[in-house]
Amino acid sequence: MTTLQQITSCMDAYDPDALSVDQARAVVRAFLTPVSTNERVAVRSALGRVLGEDIVSTLDVPAHDNSAMDGYAMNHADLAPEGETVLRLAGSAFAGRQFDGSVASGECVRIMTGAVMPKGTDTVVIQEIVQAEGEKVRIPAGQKRGQNRRLAGEDLSVGKAVLRAGTPVGPAQLGLMASLGLAEVAVRRRLRVAFFSTGDELCSVGTQLAAGEVYDSNRYTLYGMLARLGCDIVDMGVVRDDPTSLEQALKSAAADADAVITSGGVSVGEADFIRELLSRLGEVAFWKIAMKPGRPMAFGKIAHAGNTAHFFGLPGNPVAVMVTFYQFVREALLALSGRSGDCTLPLLRVPSTAAIKKNPGRTEFQRGTLVRDDQGLWSVSPTGAQGSGVLRSMSEANCFIVLEHERGSVKPGEPVQVQLFEGLI
Ligand code: AMP
Ligand code: MG
Repeated sequence: MTTLQQITSCMDAYDPDALSVDQARAVVRAFLTPVSTNERVAVRSALGRVLGEDIVSTLDVPAHDNSAMDGYAMNHADLAPEGETVLRLAGSAFAGRQFDGSVASGECVRIMTGAVMPKGTDTVVIQEIVQAEGEKVRIPAGQKRGQNRRLAGEDLSVGKAVLRAGTPVGPAQLGLMASLGLAEVAVRRRLRVAFFSTGDELCSVGTQLAAGEVYDSNRYTLYGMLARLGCDIVDMGVVRDDPTSLEQALKSAAADADAVITSGGVSVGEADFIRELLSRLGEVAFWKIAMKPGRPMAFGKIAHAGNTAHFFGLPGNPVAVMVTFYQFVREALLALSGRSGDCTLPLLRVPSTAAIKKNPGRTEFQRGTLVRDDQGLWSVSPTGAQGSGVLRSMSEANCFIVLEHERGSVKPGEPVQVQLFEGLI
């Protein structure tokens, strides 16, 4: 098994005290061991899960050539090359009730959407442009061969892999599996994630705050973010800043989970004894990432009682928790869940309505509001106070404004990149 040290020693200019966001992402990505065990579930329960097997089609869908419109089916060769054609109506074809027999030259069949194309026909003319009087059906000129016909197997064909293991299951995948008649499907087991908050100043909701205490909000944002990812969540509460309690909590989390997330306790003043503790349990790097907010972060693996868990030590500041989660942990947990492909969040470019102060040499994740003007054009403005403790800046925002590492201050009207919260899991 590759160690964290082997990964970082292969990197150009790896400096744990001045790591770029991209370097940190690359190290995390290289040090993940995704879950590989499967369980079988009813198709509907696969929603939001990761497919554990390739789905190979056992059917042609649709099973027969059929009509895409309500109209008349005929053999295109029977239509006059120029001008209209009069055909004889030979019968009707409905979805689920086909026209028996075959259509002779000079004939057509009334056909409904989804009905099997009768033998001897290859083209459908929509009813709106046809004049029908009794058995006589008048077809205007200009019809294309094969129009308004869906071909057998055009959606799915026998023997073809229609979905690959590692695909996240959404509504379209549910429908696709149902169209193959599948009642059950193999999915990866859920990722088990344990998390706790550290800090002597933290008080749990439902109790009275004493002087100098704050309510533990990180466990709630973390709960929300993890629940949206579909993880199996283990909330371990608040752990005091003392070596014995921390060791106990870390050991029990490491023994039980695929990933352990903590908040607080990784900033410079606090790092020493947790660093020593983590080094006894596994391999964890302490990083100062060139980003704002969320500079300190610890990452690695810890083991106890025969189990190994990925470890993410997030900063304590409430906004920093969300930013580091969305920029590093989210993507890592999706990959750990067995998802294949790129899970990074898309970036969109829009103009900033305001000036934004920024120094080159770090990536900033400001909180912004993306709005649309009267002409339908989108632009973004920062949500005011951007302190890493101001959780309101996240709650009022609908996107991150991502200011790249090398970039300096932004002038009003200058394009910036944004990451939308809507749809973010
Ligand atoms: P730390 O990283 O432990 O030094 O914490 C940095 C700041 O975040 C301090 O002001 C803490 O009080 C605050 N903080 C740490 N953990 C939490 C939490 N779970 N909920 C709310 N604030 C926190
Ligand atoms: Mg603390």
